[in-house]
Amino acid sequence: MNTLHRIDGRLHLEDVALDTLAERFGTPLYVYSRQALESAYQDYTRAFASTPHLICYAVKANSSLAILNLFARLGAGFDIVSGGELARVLAAGGDPGKIVFSGVGKTADEMRAALAAGILCFNVESVSELHRLSRVASDVGKVAPVSFRVNPDVDPKTHPYISTGLKENKFGVPIAEAPALYRLAASLPNLEITGIDCHIGSQLTELLPLTDAADRVLALVDTLAAEGMVLRHIDLGGGIGIRYRDEIPPDLAVYGRELARRFAGRRETLLLEPGRSLVGNAGLLLTRVEYLKPGTDKNFAIVDAAMNDLMRPALYEAYHDIVAVTPRNAPARRYDIVGPVCETGDFLGFARDLTIGEGDFLALLSAGAYGMSMASNYNSRPRAAEILIDKKEIHIIRDRETQSAMMAGERLVC
Ligand SMILES: *Cc1c(COP(=O)(O)O)cnc(C)c1O
Repeated sequence: MNTLHRIDGRLHLEDVALDTLAERFGTPLYVYSRQALESAYQDYTRAFASTPHLICYAVKANSSLAILNLFARLGAGFDIVSGGELARVLAAGGDPGKIVFSGVGKTADEMRAALAAGILCFNVESVSELHRLSRVASDVGKVAPVSFRVNPDVDPKTHPYISTGLKENKFGVPIAEAPALYRLAASLPNLEITGIDCHIGSQLTELLPLTDAADRVLALVDTLAAEGMVLRHIDLGGGIGIRYRDEIPPDLAVYGRELARRFAGRRETLLLEPGRSLVGNAGLLLTRVEYLKPGTDKNFAIVDAAMNDLMRPALYEAYHDIVAVTPRNAPARRYDIVGPVCETGDFLGFARDLTIGEGDFLALLSAGAYGMSMASNYNSRPRAAEILIDKKEIHIIRDRETQSAMMAGERLVC
């Protein structure tokens, strides 16, 4: 879905010119396309149409209420990793019965809130968590639906910081220990076994690790069934990559066919937890060039967005395409695009060939996932505003943070 295009050279998202948008609302500014968000979701429902399934959007990729609400209205479920994300999904009108709760460190308070809301299941990641969940559920007189997150020990062939399914990662329980854990869960009070889960990593560009993991999980499900433990759902996680530069992400239709073949004749519902692939390419970050700083070795373009707005380059050395919003007619020069934050790691892109002047706007593309949701106030920088474009319509879905909001809750010592 190409919602980003140029008209007379000027960059547009859907029917809105991004230079006028930046002038009107200021920068840094996150901008999303409703059409791109919805079509990414529909790509999933189409690819998995022949398998009973539920798409649980991974909230941490972008947790803005308007985006959660949009997916809720399309019928999505949600994958949450904190009590804060639970509150957001509920505030956005998400169906609690379609929420799965992942994460290695769930607190008793978070468990109580999720039990009160009536979520679909807890993706349990350790024995200690299982015992705590049983105690908390007993205390509040509820039965907690349990799904173990198993670690299938496949190499997802992605960046080590976003690989989660190897033996040495902190996530999940080793697949070999899972049968014993399911037996333990069956013996503890106030727990009900409902499913199984795995999530092997993020920004995966190959299908094989995903289908390998699926095969290992399905073999375990059959072992459990032979012991009389019947599951209602099989959650194969998220992790499908997107194109930032020249990656060729797995074809969802092929993934859908691969899983349809494996699920044919099964009774369990397929759950998926995509994050990045639903929102990543639906958003961009607009920024203004504050200063051009030519040097002997390299030239810097200092822009008004920084690592606190988009942390991925600093955190993972991630690549985002950077393009001029209104191109000029002159030869390009090579720039490092850096922010104003006082860290050498505060860069957005290295060695980019651009024709730009001070005051020009740049767009950092593919910034819809792990952009705003990772934003911080480092250097006391207010967080950016967010806009959702729907054809010609412009919706402000988050105001630019004010300085007083940034200081709210702080007190002096008297
Ligand atoms: C982060 C995460 C996801 C989403 O991953 P993407 O790569 O954004 O699709 C899904 N499930 C779990 C448990 C996660 O931690």
